[in-house]
Amino acid sequence: MADQKCAHPGCNCIVEPKGPYGKYCSEHCKEARGMTELRCGCQHIDCR
Ligand SMILES: [Zn+2]
Ligand SMILES: [Zn+2]
Ligand SMILES: [Zn+2]
Repeated sequence: MADQKCAHPGCNCIVEPKGPYGKYCSEHCKEARGMTELRCGCQHIDCR
């Protein structure tokens, strides 16, 4: 319940609500908001 998926549409990471990037898992996803990526490039294990 507490965990939620990264707000970037192409990303599969689970994000902690109090994480440093808000609704995103990483700086990458935060900056990629607004872009549609087929493959997320955040480099986390869930996205490879
Ligand atoms: Zn990702
Ligand atoms: Zn992400
Ligand atoms: Zn990620």
